[in-house]
Amino acid sequence: MKLTIGHLYPDLLNLYGDTGNIQCLKKRLQWRGIEAEVIPCQSGSRVDFDRLDLVLLGGGPDREQELACGQLKEIRRDFEAYVRENGTVLAVCGGYQLLGNYYRTGVKTLEGLGILNIYTEWEPKRLVSNIILKSPLCPEPVTGFENHGGRTNIGDHSPLGRVLYGYGNTEESGYEGVLYKNVVATYLHGPLLPKNPAICDYLLERALKKKYGENAHLQPLSDRLEHIANHSIVARYYTSLW
Ligand code: GLN
Repeated sequence: MKLTIGHLYPDLLNLYGDTGNIQCLKKRLQWRGIEAEVIPCQSGSRVDFDRLDLVLLGGGPDREQELACGQLKEIRRDFEAYVRENGTVLAVCGGYQLLGNYYRTGVKTLEGLGILNIYTEWEPKRLVSNIILKSPLCPEPVTGFENHGGRTNIGDHSPLGRVLYGYGNTEESGYEGVLYKNVVATYLHGPLLPKNPAICDYLLERALKKKYGENAHLQPLSDRLEHIANHSIVARYYTSLW
């Protein structure tokens, strides 16, 4: 078996170790004897969604996000079709915002892909924090780091999780991210996947099943060190859970 991972615009959208998500996807496939190919799609290059089994769209400052926004407009139809046909996507922070209808920064409005029926509006107080969630994708709490000026209103979408510590989509809603079809969209940097291997395996399994059928599955890995790291972070920021 083999999965091909497309990293969209790593030259523009790559904050706080988001590329670690690519390393994690690749390693967790290889550890199970599954071939992994990574295609970095730099800005200006053609994106062939027919070749991709998994797509990562990372985060970026407003200026880089605006540049990425111009690139994304060119591939909007193909990206929409990919998601409609159950393609697997991880979108982090700036990438998450750009999947929505718009992101209104302090000075202008960036039109998003409209794949998610959400919108984001910037406020001067940045939401910077370690963050802990309870998510249906993971038995243990999801941990990460957030740093965003945008507040995202997710309308009727299902969130990725409930905020136990930190801010999330807005300071008030109590929810973080969006789960839609095979899309995981989130504010969590960290990078997200090495810290939360269950989310990595969720994405890999969605992509494998789409390509090889419902019987395809991943062998479990021990993740001993990952569990220790998770417990230590959760104990530091959300002690009452343990
Ligand atoms: N520029 C966006 C914001 O501040 C996203 C930042 C990010 O990707 N960390 O809300």
